[in-house]
Amino acid sequence: MASTTGNHTIVTMAKSCPIQNVADLLSEARRVYRERFDGDDANIAVCAPGRVNLIGEHTDYNQGFVLPMALPMVTVMVGSKTSGQNCCVVTLTEAADEPRVVDFDLPTELTPLLRGQPNWANYVKGVVQHYRVQPIPGFRAVIASSVPLGGGLSSSASLEVAVYTFLQQLCPDDGDQVAKAVACQQAEHTHAAVPCGIMDQFVSVLGKEGHALLIDCRSLEAIAVPLADPGLVILITNSNVRHSLTGSEYPTRRKQCEEAAVILGKSSLRDATLQDLEAAKDRLDSVTYRRARHVIEEIERTSQAVEALKKGDYKEFGKLMVESHNSLRENYEVSCPELEELVSAALEVDGVFGSRMTGGGFGGCTVTLLQAHATERAMEHIQEKYHGSPTFYITTPSEGARALRL
Ligand code: ADP
Ligand code: MG
Repeated sequence: MASTTGNHTIVTMAKSCPIQNVADLLSEARRVYRERFDGDDANIAVCAPGRVNLIGEHTDYNQGFVLPMALPMVTVMVGSKTSGQNCCVVTLTEAADEPRVVDFDLPTELTPLLRGQPNWANYVKGVVQHYRVQPIPGFRAVIASSVPLGGGLSSSASLEVAVYTFLQQLCPDDGDQVAKAVACQQAEHTHAAVPCGIMDQFVSVLGKEGHALLIDCRSLEAIAVPLADPGLVILITNSNVRHSLTGSEYPTRRKQCEEAAVILGKSSLRDATLQDLEAAKDRLDSVTYRRARHVIEEIERTSQAVEALKKGDYKEFGKLMVESHNSLRENYEVSCPELEELVSAALEVDGVFGSRMTGGGFGGCTVTLLQAHATERAMEHIQEKYHGSPTFYITTPSEGARALRL
């Protein structure tokens, strides 16, 4: 069953997906706000997108290149300033059986906001704590999201960036977009205890409609690369599985990369070449060698992919996607049987240029680049071959975080 909502199409097969377009999310959030807060109307509304990474996986925390795009799926936040020191936030999204309402007092210099329960509220508190203008006024707000939670499309960054964008309406900062992304990344580090790179927050802030974003995670500069060919589709397939390894393996990979950089005498793997790696091979154990190899080659692949995209050479781009996927499986060891099944099935379809796992790994989504006319056929084939229940999203590169008109 396919439904078109604004500028993206969601195809839900076995698993139902409560996706709505931005206008629907906004009106639902406003309705709940009125109901919850004695008939008052929210006077601020913002949204921030999730993202999909086209290529450049596990390179951001190695100061490398990444090539994500912002998605049409967003987190919407509506609300108003209050006169007190208290914040009350409601989420309409179910987050692991946790209460959907949280109340907390604003931080002071002596009493910073600490992590606590419910877990989802830590993303909100983290951004309040790291907001670049303090103190901020109290507020109440309702959050609604069409980004699947824990699916590797970065619902967490979209939530953080939505909160930051909301606070900008309450209490404006200097408008520095990169500093905004960094503050949201800090929030995820300190309050969600996830040592993530900068990619997710960066593209949620700076994403550009009709473009992928080449981000240099060392200089924090970005170039928007056009990606709006109507003959081309970017299909995301959610495996709807997430293995419990995700949490523990990510910091381990980070550490292995840092160790490899130290052994190679570099400040990060961004500065290392394959020649450097080969020269140091006997000083690296085989696992660390393979981790470093993935990162060094993946950074190079990302640059090549941008050149291919600029030339409209989708065949080359697709080939690089497949190489990326194979390296994530063999060298970085972050794939899983479900992702393998989805990628293999996609690659069997005529008109598919390339397919790969996207995000941290061990479940979540794949991203497939294909000719528009092959989309139906690809979804049918993947659905048939996959042993689980996939959800498909036919997406277009979308705009970064923004205020919404009420
Ligand atoms: P991903 O970012 O890939 O979706 P993460 O594990 O990094 O996965 O982040 C998912 C977590 O973010 C959820 O478990 C929840 O705590 C929080 N979260 C994201 N969006 C929302 C939302 N709309 N409402 C409540 N919590 C959310
Ligand atoms: Mg996340």
